[in-house]
Amino acid sequence: MLLITHDLAAAERVADTVAVMYAGRIVEHRPAGELFRAPAHPYTRGLLNALPNREFRAVPGHPPMLTALPEGCAFAARCDRVSEACATQPVGPVACHHPLVTVGTPA
Ligand code: SF4
Repeated sequence: MLLITHDLAAAERVADTVAVMYAGRIVEHRPAGELFRAPAHPYTRGLLNALPNREFRAVPGHPPMLTALPEGCAFAARCDRVSEACATQPVGPVACHHPLVTVGTPA
């Protein structure tokens, strides 16, 4: 079953695997337990930190216009880990050139 939601608490309760999307692309796709325990993509970390039972702090900045996405990482303007490498599109189960943790392929 595929569940699409903005409710991270619900996803954590019911999902085996979670795919986090940003600007129309999957940026992190991992087993739910691992993703919620140790997010690897800076956007996932930001989403989790925004939860009331965590830091309750919004992700700074605003998402890009979907009609004018940058060539590289779409999260770059909001990311505290951005570098020159981020001018190219990152790919993989964690679509990030500088992930917060090292991960393998999704189960
Ligand atoms: S690719 Fe770069 S800008 Fe994008 S999330 Fe990763 S570190 Fe941040």
